[in-house]
Amino acid sequence: MKVPKNTMSLCPRCKKHTEFTISIYKKGKKRTLAEGQRRYDRKKRGYGSQPKEVFHKNAKINKKTTPLLTCSVCGFKKYGRSQRIKKFEIVTA
Ligand SMILES: [Zn+2]
Repeated sequence: MKVPKNTMSLCPRCKKHTEFTISIYKKGKKRTLAEGQRRYDRKKRGYGSQPKEVFHKNAKINKKTTPLLTCSVCGFKKYGRSQRIKKFEIVTA
């Protein structure tokens, strides 16, 4: 799916329609000291196999890409909506 780089959308901070720049949302870095990560590391210690199953039987081929919209006036960020699509392409026009 082709998505324009800039779009007009409502900014809750500016309280009016402003121009938003679209980029792709990416996951942040995992925190090594988060409780879940510490628990997982504890389980992984010592002998034995993988303590939690790794999911392999995924029937879905396409992934949902989350667009991240940034207000060009105040820098407010919000997430857009997306369907399951093969390719998420940002087009500059
Ligand atoms: Zn704004």
